[in-house]
Amino acid sequence: MTIQEKYGFRKVLNARGPATILGAARVSDPIRKEIYDILGESVEIWELQRSASQRIARLTGAQAGCVVNCSSAGMAIAAAAVLTGSDPAKIKALPDVTWPRKKILIQKGQVTGAGDCPVWQVIKMTGAEYVEIGEALDCATFHLRAALDDTTAAAFYVMEDTFAPNLLPLETFVAICHEKGVPVICDAAYLTDFTMLAQIGVDLAIYSGQKWLGGCTSGIIAGRKDLVHACFMQEMGIGRPMKVGKEGIVSIMASIDSWLSRDSAAIEKRQQRLADTIAKALQGMAGVTCAVVKSLYSPSVRLHVDIDAEQAGVSAWEINEDMGRLDPVIKTDDYFVSGGKLIFDMAYLDSEDAALIADVLRSYLTGERRAAQRENVPKPRQDILYEMFNAWLDGDPRG
Ligand SMILES: *Cc1c(COP(=O)(O)O)cnc(C)c1O
Repeated sequence: MTIQEKYGFRKVLNARGPATILGAARVSDPIRKEIYDILGESVEIWELQRSASQRIARLTGAQAGCVVNCSSAGMAIAAAAVLTGSDPAKIKALPDVTWPRKKILIQKGQVTGAGDCPVWQVIKMTGAEYVEIGEALDCATFHLRAALDDTTAAAFYVMEDTFAPNLLPLETFVAICHEKGVPVICDAAYLTDFTMLAQIGVDLAIYSGQKWLGGCTSGIIAGRKDLVHACFMQEMGIGRPMKVGKEGIVSIMASIDSWLSRDSAAIEKRQQRLADTIAKALQGMAGVTCAVVKSLYSPSVRLHVDIDAEQAGVSAWEINEDMGRLDPVIKTDDYFVSGGKLIFDMAYLDSEDAALIADVLRSYLTGERRAAQRENVPKPRQDILYEMFNAWLDGDPRG
């Protein structure tokens, strides 16, 4: 009996990658073995964290690191750490910040979700004074310079590839903050270049442990030693309800070893074959364009399938919605689906999965399989997300 059969849930064919909402990474056997071993042991958590710090330093080039429960927890804990340092009285005072250095600023155009909650929630929950600078599509050096003063505890930067082009580049942002002695916290949960942020001088960088690294639910904070020290100490305060367990810490250590010794060329070759299977099946179909796109935010081969609904007779959005109701459920990266783009990530597919996806896509495009017709105006992504969350207990979140 599979675990799906035992507990009564559908198997997910994951063409999206390690999204938190799909259970994040599929953890490999060698990493699972170490998680299994540590679960039967008692440990001193500080000692595990010290060991993890050395490995995180090796991975990132930062002075030190610690493991947290997830990336959004890491963002909150980093925000707390720049407010309190390692002063236990201040750690225990949060969220009441009764001292002047309490401002945390961010470019308005980078106000994203820390996952599915807004980034200001994880900053404000520490008691910090949250300040947005610039405009939705622009931020200039003068905006940043004017905002930095003696009450600024940190500046926050988000690494993603979907921002407007006229925000401040990270190098400029860090240099200006450092002129004023203000540390920079960087959300890099989806980034796969683990060394660039330390090189640029980011003071606290947050990476996901459960996404591309391949560990179980966890995140990493890497950076300046005194600030990382203050991050772990938040477990005496607001970090306590966000703490990571021994299995998370060990999974990070095992994942780092596995990441540093992986054969990326072989992985890419295997994934390229899978992408070719799907692209070939769609060749010559009206209104369909396929392309493999590389990104700093994914180490895997990702096939972009653009669908012109008028020519194809069915929209990317309708196909995506319908694939989410099949058994197994097929999940894609659908961030750009309302613009006609479906993205298939090869990281968690095998050749059978790729063949199945190719067949399913063809069947929608030939009209053999009909997707339920949707209104012409696609719903905003967060409305769809809301409907899913809202129906989880009684309704049908698959719509
Ligand atoms: C996934 C992600 C998060 C949230 O990560 P969790 O580990 O689910 O909390 C935050 N920021 C970015 C850029 C992400 O990709």
